[in-house]
Amino acid sequence: MHELAITQSVVDAVVEKLDGADVRTLTLEIGRLSGVVPDSVRFCFELVSAGTVLEGATLTIVEPPGAGACRSCGDEFTMEDAFPLCPCGSADVEVTAGRQLKIRSVEVR
Ligand SMILES: [Zn+2]
Repeated sequence: MHELAITQSVVDAVVEKLDGADVRTLTLEIGRLSGVVPDSVRFCFELVSAGTVLEGATLTIVEPPGAGACRSCGDEFTMEDAFPLCPCGSADVEVTAGRQLKIRSVEVR
């Protein structure tokens, strides 16, 4: 399962940096075009965080929208799904936002 591996690597990264800390909140940024399902990450987080400094921490996920820049007409627009299509009809689009998956903040007690 894709999300399990992702969640595991996020938890590993936090444990590596903050071993021994008591983490209260972990905020992740999962772009809407990343292909990662936030609900699955929430589910996996429960499993993966058990027994680590993240056990019992609140997981907050923010989902920034996607954005694309059209190479045909130069327009920039919001992307609602992963299919790159400019309102002008061109699919020659560079995705400029929404594919990120990163730790935005960690709040320690
Ligand atoms: Zn266009």
